Amino acid sequence: MDKHWDIIIIGGGPGGYVAAIRGTQLGKRVLLVEKDRVGGTCMNWGCIPTKYLLHQSQQYRELKENRHFDPSCQGIGINWASVQKGKQDSVEKLVGGIEFLLKKNGVHLLSGYARLVSGREVAVQTDTEKVFSADAVVLATGSRAAELPFLQADGKQVITSREALSLTEIPERMLVVGAGAIGLEMGTIFSRLGSTVTVLEILPNVLPGIDRDMALRLERLLKGQGLKICTQTKIESSARDLGKVVLKGIHLKTQSPFEYEAEKVLLAVGRRPNSENFQDVDSRLVFDNQKFLKVNDRYETGIPGVYAIGDLIGGRLLAHKASHEGTRVVENICGKNNTMNNDAVPSAVFTEPEFAMVGMTETEAVERGFKIRAGHFSLQANGRALTLEKMEGLVKILSDEDERIIGAQILSPHASEIISEVTLAIQKDLKLKDLSSTVHIHPTLSEAVMEAALNARNEAIHMLNV
Ligand SMILES: Cc1cc2nc3c(=O)[nH]c(=O)nc-3n(C[C@H](O)[C@H](O)[C@H](O)COP(=O)(O)OP(=O)(O)OC[C@H]3O[C@@H](n4cnc5c(N)ncnc54)[C@H](O)[C@@H]3O)c2cc1C
Repeated sequence: MDKHWDIIIIGGGPGGYVAAIRGTQLGKRVLLVEKDRVGGTCMNWGCIPTKYLLHQSQQYRELKENRHFDPSCQGIGINWASVQKGKQDSVEKLVGGIEFLLKKNGVHLLSGYARLVSGREVAVQTDTEKVFSADAVVLATGSRAAELPFLQADGKQVITSREALSLTEIPERMLVVGAGAIGLEMGTIFSRLGSTVTVLEILPNVLPGIDRDMALRLERLLKGQGLKICTQTKIESSARDLGKVVLKGIHLKTQSPFEYEAEKVLLAVGRRPNSENFQDVDSRLVFDNQKFLKVNDRYETGIPGVYAIGDLIGGRLLAHKASHEGTRVVENICGKNNTMNNDAVPSAVFTEPEFAMVGMTETEAVERGFKIRAGHFSLQANGRALTLEKMEGLVKILSDEDERIIGAQILSPHASEIISEVTLAIQKDLKLKDLSSTVHIHPTLSEAVMEAALNARNEAIHMLNV
C-alpha cells in the first residue's frame, strides 16, 4: 500500500466520505481512514435511525388516534422488534451504498484508528501501526454525546441517543435531560410508543436559540401530545437505585426543590468534539474553550495543509453542513477559494409539527443592527393544512429594510422540506417579492411561505394584514 497520498481524510462520516468522493472526482488519490463504520454518527446512530423511529412511532400514534377509523384500531400494538429490524435494515442499506460509492469512485478506505503524528503525517492503528503522509490532511472525526459531571452515561440506566436508538424494550418512564433537537426527537419517539417522558431543561425555552414565540408554540404542542416538559429546571445530583435513577435539583423560577425518577435517563445535553488525539500534537492547532478545533474560512487549521470540517470544528452540528464543508475543503485543496455562507445553512427538528429555520432569528437580526420586516402566516388559513387536520403551525419570514430575505422559521408538517425554498432565497440574495410572486401549487403547505412573504409587504390575500 502506498505511503504517500494526495489527501488523507480521518473520519468517514458525512463530512469525511463526501470529501473523499469529491477528492477522487477531482483526480486526487485519496486515503480515507475510519475506525468504525462509514456514514459516521449521522447514518449509523443519528439522522437516519432517529427519522426511521420518528416515522414509525408517528404512524402508530396516528392509527390509534384517527377518529374516523374503526374503534378496533385503537387496540393495535406495535411490533418493536420488527421496527428495530426495519431501522437497522435501512441503516445497512445506506452504509452499504456509501461503501459502494467510495469503492467505485476509487477512494482507498482503510479501517483503523488514526492519529496525527506531526504536520501531514498520520499513524493508523490496524493490526500494526502504519505511518502515511499526504500533501493535505482533512480531519473529520466528528463528535459524541456530552455528559454532566454528576450524571455520566453507563449505557444501561443513564444512556445517550446512541443506546436509546437500540433499546430492546420501551421503558415505562424516561427522563430526557435537555430540550434541544435530539432531546425533543428522542422524547417524542418514546412518548408516542407509550413511555411517560419528562424533558428537563435548564433554560427558559425548548430549542434554545430559536425565537421565543416559536419555541413556546412548539412546547405547547408537544405538551398537548403528552410530553411533560419542565423548563428552568436545574439538576444538581443523581442517584442510581434498584433499577431506577433519581434526579434532584431546583426549579429556577420558584426556587423549589424537585425529585424525578425513571428507569431510563437519556442525556441530550449537547455534543463534544472528538478532538482529544489532536490536542497535544502541535501548538499550531488551536481549540476553543469547548475543544472544537479552530479553522479559517477555507477550513485550514494553523498547520499549513491540515484542514478540519464537520462537527469537529463546531458551529451548527449538522450532517448537511459537514457534507458541504467536505466538498468545499477538497475544492480549496485543489486551488479554489470556496467559503460557505453560514446564514444559508438550514436546520430542522423532526417533531410533529416539524420546526425548521434558516438565516437569522428576529432577536439576532435586531442585535446585528438590521431594520427588519417580519411577515407571518398561520396554517389555520392554509388549505392543505386543513385537509391534513394539522393547522397548528406558523410561518415567519424576515427581511431587511430593502426587502432582502434574511431568515425564516417554519412550524409545520414537512417544515424540513419547505425551508429549502427560503434557503435558496437567502443563498441567492432574493427579495420578498421573488418569493411572493413565485407560483406555488395549491393546495400545499408551501403556499404559507408565499403568503408570509406577501404579509411582510402587507399584501397577503388569505389573512388580514394587520
Ligand atoms: C441522535 C442524533 C440525531 C441527529 N439528527 C440529525 C439530523 O436529522 N440532521 C442533521 O443534519 N444532523 C443530525 N445529527 C447530527 C449529525 O449526525 C452530525 O452533525 C454529523 O454526523 C457530523 O458529521 P461528521 O462527518 O462531522 O462527523 P461524524 O458523523 O461523527 O463522523 C465522524 C467519523 O469519524 C470517525 N473517527 C473518529 N475518530 C477517528 C479516528 N481517530 N480515526 C478514524 N476514524 C475516526 C468516527 O468513527 C465517525 O465515523 C444528529 C445527531 C444525533 C446524535
